[in-house]
Amino acid sequence: MKKRLTSVISTLILASLSFTPVQAQSKSDNFSAVQLSHVKEIKRQALQSNLAWDLVESLTTEVGPRMPGTPGDEAGVAWAVAKFKSMGFDKVWTEPATFPKWIRYSESASVVSPSPQTLHITALGNSISTPKEGIEAQVIEFENLAELESAPDHVAKGKIVFINYRMDRDRDGNGYGPAVKARSRGAVVAAQKGAVGYVMRSVSTATHRFAHTGGSHYKEGVTKIVSSAISNADADQLHRLVALGNPVTININVQAKSMGEGTSYNVIGEFTGSEFPKEHVLIGGHLDSWDLGTGALDDGAGIAITMAAAKFATLKGRPKRSIRVVLFAAEEFGLWGAKAYAKANEKTLSNIVAAAESDFGADKIWAFESNVHESSLPLVNEIAAMLKPLNVEYIANNAARNGPDLIPLRPFKVPAFALSQDGTDYFDYHHTADDTLDKVDPEKLRHNVASYAIFAYMAANANTRIIGK
Ligand SMILES: [Zn+2]
Repeated sequence: MKKRLTSVISTLILASLSFTPVQAQSKSDNFSAVQLSHVKEIKRQALQSNLAWDLVESLTTEVGPRMPGTPGDEAGVAWAVAKFKSMGFDKVWTEPATFPKWIRYSESASVVSPSPQTLHITALGNSISTPKEGIEAQVIEFENLAELESAPDHVAKGKIVFINYRMDRDRDGNGYGPAVKARSRGAVVAAQKGAVGYVMRSVSTATHRFAHTGGSHYKEGVTKIVSSAISNADADQLHRLVALGNPVTININVQAKSMGEGTSYNVIGEFTGSEFPKEHVLIGGHLDSWDLGTGALDDGAGIAITMAAAKFATLKGRPKRSIRVVLFAAEEFGLWGAKAYAKANEKTLSNIVAAAESDFGADKIWAFESNVHESSLPLVNEIAAMLKPLNVEYIANNAARNGPDLIPLRPFKVPAFALSQDGTDYFDYHHTADDTLDKVDPEKLRHNVASYAIFAYMAANANTRIIGK
């Protein structure tokens, strides 16, 4: 009897030992062991897939540049609707967004004296045209916008203001904010100081001769003057010429036009949840791009990553909560699609359980960060643990700032997340003619898809929903 009991006990011990690995895996409060095994399978398949590459290749090749209000933008919307449908999304729809339409016809610049030569220039978005023959005037250089602002009134009377601020290279893109001020407001401040034209060093870390475009603004009551940027190499050249101490005269010729109100569309695809269909994970990027390149990094990659991620997140069947991919319209002209989305969906924004936008190129994701109610942090920790093997670091200060198109959602306490890409090289290409498909690395793209798919799957399938703060 004693012997038999011992053998029963030892069988039980053996049995419990053989279950140990499964029990260790299912310790989670939020996921079953089966679900955790799904996460691993999703990751494995995403890391082998070319889906995101096929999408960004198709978008940048068959559609090309997608500036809001252009035929390319319209083609981009049609492309996105067709792709969502062919990928098997349960629901696909569009929502309109209006914006001030602007188009570029031509742009050129040159040093007229003392040493005639071409300058590589681009008009900043929203710029007015110069007269047909261009505008010709002496250059007055400033180090940055603050120096121009504190200069005496009329300091630039009859001149072309040149701001030569160098943007810093940084993994998180922290150099962009300080540099971009001179892009959005430079032409206004220059005009207030009497200038007849405005040109700036590109908001860029590049060494090539492609100039960086981007949004700029005028102010009511301030004379509108041409607003433009030259490549960094040309900015160096102009700086050297000015530093020689003799007057430097340049000609800027920009032909562009504001066209009144334009309309484009947010394109939305959704895999509908089985248990809580109204609750949803929101991921996405922006469908529009500037006109100079093909918008491969900004933001073709983000579109492709999030569309593909939603597909992999539903690999093992319908999620508990819906997974929605939003491709925002007219981001480059001032978040017009995002603002329209927040307004049109105001009553259902509380159903968002997690939101993240991919809009920082196509390099690998290095960090994961949340901005949620404290009670959701254990679940966030579990997601972070599954991202760790992909070398994604968890930044636990719960203060994530997510993508630009999610800014209009902030007042609604949407649970926000950042899957931060390495942006060290992003501003070598951003908003230039050099933003093309060859800058996208298929392997890094797969890493992004796997990370987003894990995030979307776990947020959509957890036992408890994530709450915002
Ligand atoms: Zn972007």
